[in-house]
Amino acid sequence: MPDTFSKKKRSQIMSKVKSKETNLELCFRKLLIGYRFRYQPKVFGKPDFALKKLKIAIFIDSCFWHKCPKHFRKPNSNISYWKPKINRNVERAKEVNKQFKKDGWIVFRFWEHDIKVNPEKCINKVSEKFGRM
Ligand SMILES: [Zn+2]
Repeated sequence: MPDTFSKKKRSQIMSKVKSKETNLELCFRKLLIGYRFRYQPKVFGKPDFALKKLKIAIFIDSCFWHKCPKHFRKPNSNISYWKPKINRNVERAKEVNKQFKKDGWIVFRFWEHDIKVNPEKCINKVSEKFGRM
């Protein structure tokens, strides 16, 4: 299919797409910080957000690194390099979940695509669990 946009127009469109994603992530971050979550706190397992007082940890799993069932595509090259790395990542996430639960934490894992498509929905999932939020 030929590209119907000029180069300039195309790059304008692309930059809009990019900034839209960034805004959504920012919006998600602001909402959580509004609830007094810490962004990338220094706690075990490196969650993206945590609220120590209520023992809530939130992870945002990358569609690529965590093998999202909807978006994960095998890399075309260097499979022997990527495969163990990605699998280790998935395994590690399970271990982290286990450890958090053992310590009495509530763990939320959202897909990167969930945050992009509907950050409010993700927030609602967290707040449903804690009526006072
Ligand atoms: Zn995905």
